[in-house]
Amino acid sequence: MREAHQHIHRHVPPRTVLSALVITLAAAGVEFGGAWYGGSLFLFADATHLVAHIGIFAVLLIPAARWHERGEELLTLAVLILVALIALGIVVSSCRELFAPHKELPNAASMLLAVFGLGANLMTAFLFAAPSKTRWSFRAALAHELSDGALTVFGLLGALAIHFFGWHWVDPTLSLLVGLWLWVWTARLLLRWMRLGREAWMLES
Ligand SMILES: [Zn+2]
Repeated sequence: MREAHQHIHRHVPPRTVLSALVITLAAAGVEFGGAWYGGSLFLFADATHLVAHIGIFAVLLIPAARWHERGEELLTLAVLILVALIALGIVVSSCRELFAPHKELPNAASMLLAVFGLGANLMTAFLFAAPSKTRWSFRAALAHELSDGALTVFGLLGALAIHFFGWHWVDPTLSLLVGLWLWVWTARLLLRWMRLGREAWMLES
């Protein structure tokens, strides 16, 4: 049956996306634990960002093969707006802490747990490497994962800065960057979707 499907060349094993999802959720769980223990806004933002990936990737990766209904268009819109709102929430709480600090310095060692997020970024990028050769949506997701990874490297450097210099602004600045990056990316997807509709994710080049 699947072989007869006209979009066979677009088919990507669901296992690829599911593996990325499980890895991402596991890393988010570790980071939420670390954020709760160590009081790091950055770690909390990074974990929230990882969870938001599930919505984004559902929008990006499912529609080509499965989505054909009008209701799913509304779901796409709802997911993108929800993620944009989550990103704005991260931005607002980061700015509050940046300009009117009331939290103690986070535990720098617990911020090193962001390395799990980095691992999830790199493993997802690795999983998406093959399908990204033919599909725009996977290429976009892969590029996003690598940018996330770069941001997380800054987070790890930030943990060192906090440990050695005790700078308070580092943690909220990092979480501000995580929130802004997620917001910009989601807004760009939203604009692309408004311009091209569902075709936006189905392009193959
Ligand atoms: Zn991301």
